[in-house]
Amino acid sequence: MLGIRCQVSESCLFCRIASGELTVEKAIETEKTIGVLNTLEPFARGHVVFFPKQHAVTIRHLPDDYLADMLPAIMRVATALGLENYNILSNNGAVAGQTVFHAHFHLIPKWSEEEGLVYRREPKQGLDHSEMRERLRRANLAGHKPGRLDGGG
Ligand SMILES: [Zn+2]
Repeated sequence: MLGIRCQVSESCLFCRIASGELTVEKAIETEKTIGVLNTLEPFARGHVVFFPKQHAVTIRHLPDDYLADMLPAIMRVATALGLENYNILSNNGAVAGQTVFHAHFHLIPKWSEEEGLVYRREPKQGLDHSEMRERLRRANLAGHKPGRLDGGG
């Protein structure tokens, strides 16, 4: 195995795969990422689930180097599958639909209207963004000057 430093949770499915305890059909393996063909609950042919070898409940808990390894691995598999239409999905938290509490991404080919991820686009109108805008302003992630996002300048 390649450089596993999984904080193994014995009950965690993906940790058991990462440690080699469970054998699965791997689509890809890198130093930090495993991609597994989802044949249990696929939304489409070629549905692959990618997870880090290190345990983290959600992607927000992952170190940057694990995150940085993930997207290129997903893209290599998308290329190998010849995908032109696909969705990349990560459910984080139970309310968001997460059912396996080891962070992961889905690569879901969209072969047709029926085969692949099906979701409804329902933009919400009239939401109050002021609290989220204030949190972002305080975090200063975009390097903007305080107050600029409030439309005052
Ligand atoms: Zn785990």
